[in-house]
Amino acid sequence: MYLRSFWCRFSSAAIGLTLGVGLTVGTPRPGHTLTFELDFVSGPTTDIFNVGTTTANFAPYGFRLNLPEIQAGALAAVNNDFLGYPTLGANANSPLPNGKQLNINFEVSTALTAPVNGDSEYYYVAIGTNTTGNSSLFGQACQSCVRMPFLTGPSVPNHSVLGSILTDRIATLAGLASTDAARINLLVETISHEIGHTLSLVHPPGPEANPGASIYTLMSVVTAPTNQPDSERIKDQAFSYSEFGTLIDSVGLRDAAPVPGPIVGSGFPGMVLAAIGIFSHHLGGDGGRRSPELLTAQPAHVRLRQPTIAGTIAVSPNAIAVLGGGGGSKN
Ligand SMILES: [Zn+2]
Repeated sequence: MYLRSFWCRFSSAAIGLTLGVGLTVGTPRPGHTLTFELDFVSGPTTDIFNVGTTTANFAPYGFRLNLPEIQAGALAAVNNDFLGYPTLGANANSPLPNGKQLNINFEVSTALTAPVNGDSEYYYVAIGTNTTGNSSLFGQACQSCVRMPFLTGPSVPNHSVLGSILTDRIATLAGLASTDAARINLLVETISHEIGHTLSLVHPPGPEANPGASIYTLMSVVTAPTNQPDSERIKDQAFSYSEFGTLIDSVGLRDAAPVPGPIVGSGFPGMVLAAIGIFSHHLGGDGGRRSPELLTAQPAHVRLRQPTIAGTIAVSPNAIAVLGGGGGSKN
């Protein structure tokens, strides 16, 4: 079978940077918000490990979505992994207090452009076809380079390309997915995994309790120490409760204030979502009242907001839906 190829760069250089640059203990966290740009590269791009990418070819995935829809779907799923996590009120195992969410944002870009949300601290993960520096791995990123629990300050320069998501390598597993939801899961598993590394998450020793559709978490690998089956990759995986606690310690929290509702048209974007058969992730959120992340077709570089829509769908946090199939049984 396929060798799981997520990898982490625990290089001596990265460790040196971690120890030597800018980390301070016990100081308040920056007031501004951290943004990750999911950069679907539009030309040759090189990350801090000199791994090169160029424009992705998604044809081998078999998507029925166009590129903006793939980008919007990936963004919605990443948002849901980090910002759609069930709160304590909705899930007694959750470390996330009611009314709070991680103090982090995500956007899509295509040419290493600055975020449109105005955040001054932002980093990129390059998403594209591998060109140089890595021929067999799915993704990479620097370990604990953006945030660490109880320490503040990144160990990499602001605006760095922290890692790469190699779409051509991930495409070798496209045969596992039979729906667009599963194809998005397959792609986003690597994106959220690698961003998780930059925020100090590591590979778990096996299954861990989590609110997702798999007993294995987003930080799992098919090799040791996790030994996750490849088939789990197409499920709507989540961070474990333990991993999410680390994210809270690393990133900090903010009020999960309501944000403007649908930003596309006047209709309910869930209609669009349902029409293309994608419905992402761990439903639930604040007291079970948060609506699911909704996927709509949007142009690149439009931030898909975490929606709080009037008249939200009330969904049990355990009612994890992956419409269109491909999600397998929920745990
Ligand atoms: Zn990893």
